[in-house]
Amino acid sequence: MKVKIRKGDTVVVISGSLEDKEKRGEVINVLPDEHRVVVQGVNLRTKHQRQVQTQGRTINPGRIKFEAPVDISNVMLVCPHCNQPTRVRVQRDEEGARRVCKKCQAVID
Ligand SMILES: [Zn+2]
Repeated sequence: MKVKIRKGDTVVVISGSLEDKEKRGEVINVLPDEHRVVVQGVNLRTKHQRQVQTQGRTINPGRIKFEAPVDISNVMLVCPHCNQPTRVRVQRDEEGARRVCKKCQAVID
């Protein structure tokens, strides 16, 4: 299946952990080979950083929050026009392929 979600899109979580369900966020990274996306504020993990010395610099200990990738099948694109989670169809014309919202027929790109 071709990935129809791009960086900068808004998506909603449709399945996965309960705390993230129905959360919306902006796609900050797409990992097409893994069929995963990184969504701002979704699937937050905490990394415990120990104090380390590298090349004369000291990195302070602490907890770093970061977004872990989620499977693309767990999110759905939110159409910027009708503001609803939607599927898209791809329309090809002389300018190339464009995504079209199946609900309101608006061109998303
Ligand atoms: Zn729409």
